[in-house]
Amino acid sequence: MRSITLLLLASAIVACSGTKTATAPSTTSAPASTDATVELARMGSDAVLWQNASAEAYWIYKQAYEGALTKMMWNVVERSKAYFDDAVRRPMAVIVDIDETVLDNSPYQIEAIKNGRTFDQADWKVWTDKAIAKPSPGALEFLLMAKEASCEVFYITNRDVREKASTLKNLNDAGFPFADDAHLLLMDGTSDKTERRARVRATHDVVLLVGDQLRDFDERFKDRSVSDGKNVVDAMADSLSKYFVLLPNPMYGTYRDAIHGKGTDAEKQQRMQEWFQRNGY
Ligand SMILES: [Mg+2]
Repeated sequence: MRSITLLLLASAIVACSGTKTATAPSTTSAPASTDATVELARMGSDAVLWQNASAEAYWIYKQAYEGALTKMMWNVVERSKAYFDDAVRRPMAVIVDIDETVLDNSPYQIEAIKNGRTFDQADWKVWTDKAIAKPSPGALEFLLMAKEASCEVFYITNRDVREKASTLKNLNDAGFPFADDAHLLLMDGTSDKTERRARVRATHDVVLLVGDQLRDFDERFKDRSVSDGKNVVDAMADSLSKYFVLLPNPMYGTYRDAIHGKGTDAEKQQRMQEWFQRNGY
């Protein structure tokens, strides 16, 4: 009966989409800094404040998870119909990323800015050890609904295996379903999640994926060499629309890594200046 209620609820949700135009404020040249780390940390402050404090981010998350419920239920219904023809009936699953998808780490980012620091693995571990990250808006409600709709939840994250206990504690304390060893796939040598997704797909029908990075859906999105990767978005638009929900994260990610590259903060800052010049800014 509860499933029927969910179906009716899902059917009743009207998916609304709107176009959003972001107008970048005009900026003057950043003041010369002898400390690239402090400078990069400062440059990230608007993104972090937006993620942490804005009602806009709060609503985008809620809106996205509302859309996720609709997509999930449509796919559940479609999959259920297919079972009438298929000989094999497999459990259904939803795959979610963790950071900036179901848990909000913007407090860590704020602390980093206050201290004039960029991402640091040791600082990050201090944060995750606390296991106090709050659920992203709408995430908990969505995953509890997924459970009600007989979908298992798999958490595929690039948190380190050493963060396993604290991550499970954080998820469980927050009330997330399926927060156990069998449903948590941590990074084990590579940030590429392809193999871990395949492991879930070997035993389950995956009806939806949710993440704050396009790479949470497909590793092909790592390539930003042509049109900053927007060509890959266009090429995969159909499957993205049907099986993926993307959440906002201006604080870090593949978009920035593609510009900054690896190395010291001074090197990253230099590459950013080169990117400005290359693109005529
Ligand atoms: Mg993430």
